[in-house]
Amino acid sequence: MSETESTVANQKDYDVVIIGSGPAGYTAGVYTSRARLSTLIISGTLPGGQLMTTSEVENYPGFPSGIFGPELMMNMRQQAERFGAVITDDEVIEVDFKNRPFKITTHAATYEAEAVIVCTGASPRKLGLDSEQKFGGKGVSYCATCDGPFFKGEDIVVVGGGDTAIEEATFLTKFGKSVKIVHRRDTLRASKILQQKAMENPKIEFMWNSAISDIKGDKKVTTVLVKDIKTGKEAAVKAGGLFVAIGHEPNTAIFKGQLETDDKGYIVLKNHTRTSVEGVFAAGDVHDHRYRQAVTAAGFGCMAAIDVERWLSENRISKKKA
Ligand code: NAP
Repeated sequence: MSETESTVANQKDYDVVIIGSGPAGYTAGVYTSRARLSTLIISGTLPGGQLMTTSEVENYPGFPSGIFGPELMMNMRQQAERFGAVITDDEVIEVDFKNRPFKITTHAATYEAEAVIVCTGASPRKLGLDSEQKFGGKGVSYCATCDGPFFKGEDIVVVGGGDTAIEEATFLTKFGKSVKIVHRRDTLRASKILQQKAMENPKIEFMWNSAISDIKGDKKVTTVLVKDIKTGKEAAVKAGGLFVAIGHEPNTAIFKGQLETDDKGYIVLKNHTRTSVEGVFAAGDVHDHRYRQAVTAAGFGCMAAIDVERWLSENRISKKKA
């Protein structure tokens, strides 16, 4: 988001500032604002988060016929606003969690908060091909649980050799005609049990020492070019879908030196949703690399909001301005 696109909230100090606007952030906002805590949600570069780039969401409870990702997120946003949450479409560039009240600086303003909920999520690692961007939502996906059922009867390619790739490939055999796993080495990083399951699955085939060099298609993906890293030979592989499962990067760069993270950069929580700084809480994919579902992120957002409310009231610092 450029500086000119940023919006500014008039009020500058809040009981709670929520950083991020995926299911965790908006759900936290529904709960804190409904609890009459003055709440600012700073949406980040992609208001609504990862679901804004998904098509239909079939597994979010309450929508028996499914719902489009952007619609679900707009609903959550409106629900938070209904109870008085202020939402600013801006990106946080700096935080100061060492002094109180906490300071959160965006492109457009600096805000103060008694408590903060970090809901900045994680971003799927990309292959870095131009064609990958072009076919995003048109055959290229980063979440088999979300999009697998849309690939019924298709030939599917999965990239990666970790637990996610192997688990997703196995899951995708329920829908796809065939599943090819393209991995850059000749051994998998995934746990032995998942490997064994995949290797015994007649629908799964492995392409070792291989990388995706390009993605072709018209309105959607039809073919991926797979390059043998050792020989340099390229093969055109028929594919209606390409699932990129090469890991996620938690969006925690701005918290470096302020919050404890693990060796992969995920925020470390203790006592449910509390971070290493008292008064700063976290929810969703920014700490959870195991489940990564909209519904689990929303659940964590609810938990963090309840923890914030209790913490503020225990510390008698709630201004209850909303
Ligand atoms: P991961 O363990 O980091 O594996 C990423 C995989 O993608 C690796 O095989 C890696 O290859 C490959 N890769 C990375 N960058 C690449 C690139 N630019 N091009 C091609 N390939 C690339 O990520 P993950 O599989 O998402 O798992 C994340 C964490 O969640 C792990 O701790 C995992 O154990 C956990 N997890 C657990 C379960 C479960 O227990 N059921 C399920 C899912 C995830 P190299 O092997 O060559 O590095």
